Amino acid sequence: MTRRVHPSTSTARAGLGVGDTGDGVDLVAPLSLASVRAYADLPSVDEAMEGRNTYRRYGGGNPQRLEEAMIELETVAGRTAPVARVTSSGQAAMLLAATLVAGPSRSRIVVVRPCYGGTDSLLAGPLGNLGVRVSTVDLPADGGGNHGELVAATLGPDVAAVVIEVITNPLIGLNDVPAVAAAAHDVGAAVVVDSTFTPPFLFQAFANGADLVIHSLTKHLAGHSDVCGGVLLVDSEHEASDWLDAHARLLGVNLAPFDAWLALRGLRTAALRVERCSENAAALAAFFADRPELRAVHYPGVRGARDAALAERLLPRGRGAMLSIDLQGGGIAADAFIRGLDGIRLAPSLGDVATTVSYPASTSHRALSPQQRAALGITDGLVRISVGIEHIDDLKAEFDSALIAASAG
Ligand code: PLP
Repeated sequence: MTRRVHPSTSTARAGLGVGDTGDGVDLVAPLSLASVRAYADLPSVDEAMEGRNTYRRYGGGNPQRLEEAMIELETVAGRTAPVARVTSSGQAAMLLAATLVAGPSRSRIVVVRPCYGGTDSLLAGPLGNLGVRVSTVDLPADGGGNHGELVAATLGPDVAAVVIEVITNPLIGLNDVPAVAAAAHDVGAAVVVDSTFTPPFLFQAFANGADLVIHSLTKHLAGHSDVCGGVLLVDSEHEASDWLDAHARLLGVNLAPFDAWLALRGLRTAALRVERCSENAAALAAFFADRPELRAVHYPGVRGARDAALAERLLPRGRGAMLSIDLQGGGIAADAFIRGLDGIRLAPSLGDVATTVSYPASTSHRALSPQQRAALGITDGLVRISVGIEHIDDLKAEFDSALIAASAG
């Protein structure tokens, strides 16, 4: 039996050339742009139609290499590997997931909030028009309350799935995924974990109750702000794994070859980047902790004993690269803070190799009314930080100047 290597080893080697016939082989996988293959005769085309290389919408070499790398990362030791499809965005992965779990007899999806604003908008909007019904449960961001019981109160036999993030966007709260998963399984609902803020180096979603796992590859896994992509992995023990391939083909959500090639290139350094980003984020959370310009710092484990215990249990390998701060002076202070940054850019995404900030009230959560945002704790002073790999001293110096600028108004 081959020894299973660490995730940092498997990602560093992901997609490296195999199949040397004596003349060497490209070390990195070549980019294949053909949208279709040609065949010698009818038996060959008939056989090829069962595979995924015939037509680009079905698969292709570059997307499949990326899928293999993601499967390796998300396989839990001692369990069967999941199946996976890479998709044209994280949203496309969520769309694909919803079509796999929802149906006439189970048409309700429970969304645990706060979460990425596009998630409930997709499920309640376009999918709502097709008959999906959405219920939401707001979990406290400070790790308080019994998350399993809070979600169980909205569950019933009509629920197809519970959609949950591990670290929530944008308040960086931590959800007790195993407790929520147990409640969902009690009513036969699938558990869809959006693990975008918790790459597999930090959190193994299938070991914590997930049946389906989503990542936006656009973020840390690809890591260089030059790819839009997603991945959906399905536990091969779950019935949805049987129709993943058919749904992906029919919906046409496959990731394009060049994006798959770029994402795999980014993925090869993701373990190292995520480790460094997490260290920097933890150091910045401590740096921000006593600043008088701030009303709150949101980072896993810093919000009291229950949050710390949850972080210890769920994220023993690092608490991630995402952090939010709430400025005392509200929107005016947030604007001054962002203007006070020098090399750190304002960009409505996350996961770049360099640190960026975003303003949830006018970007990821702009679809919510001011009242809805306030109810979720998304204030006008909230700035979300995606921490990169820069030297920590430079990050602290730059944020220090920006905080001073914010308090000057
Ligand atoms: N999930 C989370 C947590 C996100 O933050 C995002 C995007 O910001 C998505 C999903 C959607 O990903 P994409 O933009 O690749 O469609």
